[in-house]
Amino acid sequence: MEKLLPRFLEYVVVDTQSDPYSKTTPSTEKQLKLAKKLVSELHQIGMQEVSIDQNGYIMATLPSNTDKKVPTIGFIAHMDTTPDFTGKNVKPKVIKDYDGGNIVLNEKKNIVLSPEEFEDLLQYKGQTLITTDGTTLLGADDKAGVAEIITAMEYLLTHPEIKHGKIRVAFTPDEEIGKGAHKFDVEKFGAEWAYTVDGSQIGELEYENFNAASAAIKIKGKSVHPGYAKGKMVNAIGLANEFLSLLPPHEIPEKTSGIEGFFHVYKITGDVESAEIELIVRDHDLEHFEARKNLLSDIEDKLNTKYGDYVSLVIEEQYRNMREKVEPVFHIVEIAEEAMESLGIEPLIKPIRGGTDGSQLSFMGLPCPNIFAGGHNFHGRYEYVPLQSMEKAVQVIVKICELTAIQIR
Ligand SMILES: [Zn+2]
Repeated sequence: MEKLLPRFLEYVVVDTQSDPYSKTTPSTEKQLKLAKKLVSELHQIGMQEVSIDQNGYIMATLPSNTDKKVPTIGFIAHMDTTPDFTGKNVKPKVIKDYDGGNIVLNEKKNIVLSPEEFEDLLQYKGQTLITTDGTTLLGADDKAGVAEIITAMEYLLTHPEIKHGKIRVAFTPDEEIGKGAHKFDVEKFGAEWAYTVDGSQIGELEYENFNAASAAIKIKGKSVHPGYAKGKMVNAIGLANEFLSLLPPHEIPEKTSGIEGFFHVYKITGDVESAEIELIVRDHDLEHFEARKNLLSDIEDKLNTKYGDYVSLVIEEQYRNMREKVEPVFHIVEIAEEAMESLGIEPLIKPIRGGTDGSQLSFMGLPCPNIFAGGHNFHGRYEYVPLQSMEKAVQVIVKICELTAIQIR
């Protein structure tokens, strides 16, 4: 366990920011720098079948140490950091015995991490916190997960008295640009189920996420001299406005929480001749999700009936709620819950208002709930992670391996 912190500190200083506009996999060459380091480390701690494919996906095996027939399970974390905030020249700070007060991240720039703004900090009084220097993100999302998985495997390798089945681990590129699962070889991974170690605070356990689609509404208009336009002009801006006015005004991100779905219009462009609306549709409930997409089609029909064929809607599916794939094998959630409880951690089970790689993997045949990696304030300069939460994540991974061998079959 003593290698957990140095390992994490070594990973976060490698810039692995992914790039949504890239056409390659991994999206940025620099992710391979960390990948190479991880491959050699997996060899060094004694993992077997260590591989990295041409897309930068790393896989490795911890062989079973029991004669019992135990299902193969897996643990997955991502190597990249978000394109939303810089991950270059990360200079992590280690704050021992946190006193519950303000943490000055950067004196020169007067950047302070304060419990007045981030009250979660107070849960970690007396613990060791790892923070940024205020100028970059930290990358605990998800290098904490990577460090925890490797440390847990090392622990199992040096504690053969803990019996477990075959364990597979994988580290993926490009999760932050929504592509971490795209080129994941589920068959090669060969696990019956897996866990992404990519959640936030200690205790998080997630197996529900949004159903998600994006929609583009293209509107054509007809430009005529405004002085002589009566009965002739069709103003695409006006139609765009009418389209938006027919969406439910309260079902938007800023007015919803929990399992309430929404429409989120994030871009409008246009003039009289043509306009375009871009939006996303989100709902945990599949029926409500379908109804939301139907509403968009109904509005399209309504406007086209009223004015002629000026509006065209294209909906693209993005991801689905993994719950329907996890519920039939619910013991995989129960094992994680029991692992946490046996370590004195209260499981925080809540639906994710977003998606994970695990939701895509679940639909690719690998049911994959998400467990905490321990960090807070992801994707920005106030990101931090308590070392004790990371240690607990290591223990949870070890315990899940142990319980799977005890309970199943
Ligand atoms: Zn993440």
